Amino acid sequence: MSRHHAGAQAAPALTDPRMAADFQPVAQALAQHWPDVKLEVCDSVDSTNSELMRRARAGQVQPTLLVARQQTAGRGRLGRQWLSGSGLTDDDADGEGASLTFSLGLPLAPASWSGLSLAVGVSIAASLHPELRLKWPNDLWLHERKLGGILIETAALDGGRQAIVGVGINLGARGDTGLARAPAWLEELLPGIDAPQALLRMTGPLVLAIRDFELRGFAPFRPGFSQRDALMGAPLTLSDGTCGIAQGVNTEGALLLRTADGLQAITSSEVSLRPGPVPQAGIPAS
Ligand code: ATP
Repeated sequence: MSRHHAGAQAAPALTDPRMAADFQPVAQALAQHWPDVKLEVCDSVDSTNSELMRRARAGQVQPTLLVARQQTAGRGRLGRQWLSGSGLTDDDADGEGASLTFSLGLPLAPASWSGLSLAVGVSIAASLHPELRLKWPNDLWLHERKLGGILIETAALDGGRQAIVGVGINLGARGDTGLARAPAWLEELLPGIDAPQALLRMTGPLVLAIRDFELRGFAPFRPGFSQRDALMGAPLTLSDGTCGIAQGVNTEGALLLRTADGLQAITSSEVSLRPGPVPQAGIPAS
């Protein structure tokens, strides 16, 4: 099979033309909003984010939407694993459930980067279904189960940064995943939806949202996040042991937590959240 990108360690294998044809409407939608962007669909890659990071570090920064039929080492935050099925459709998924994984890489120069994963989540949830909720800072939830995740990374360029916006979404029913919490999948809401259709729904709005974020930051996305905030009012325990009640997010996208010591703005990506019982003593009622 031909190699798309000589020089990179794990360059993805180019897919067959039939699969690329399935994504033709996505290419057209991209061209409408953003003529410079290149759409690539590959059979298999370790992680679409990793591939675009390697390219950025090698100076290849052409805006690219990279879709993978299969990821062999999908990543979440903090080195966690992102599991995806073995294909874009249930036909080739060996009972694992179809999934969609893609990354969008582009040079970006926002005044502040804070809140980008939330803005991306707002755009994706709005594109896919009104029942979807967002769990700060990077998860898409359906009825308290995780439907998808967003992983944003950046690479330094001469005089700027390349943003890599990675998205993984479960499309089809997943069997025993071994995950501590059962996942959700998009076909629960949109029966029969496949990867090209899901991507087509998201592409145009996502490109516009990222451009809007670059110009205006997170603030314009805050109302959309609040509407879908899965944690609003929930008792939370942070990984550093801090307990509190979630109070939404501020204009920078920081999580607001009402604690015994007052309102705290949580920004650190080192924080993991586990909704659950917390001692209420000492936490003011409002
Ligand atoms: P958490 O969801 O536990 O708070 P996180 O948001 O910090 O974790 P992410 O980087 O978003 O972590 O995603 C990685 C985690 O998501 C994994 O540790 C695993 O628990 C879970 N996970 C991995 N693959 C899937 C999947 N296909 N569907 C649902 N959940 C998944």
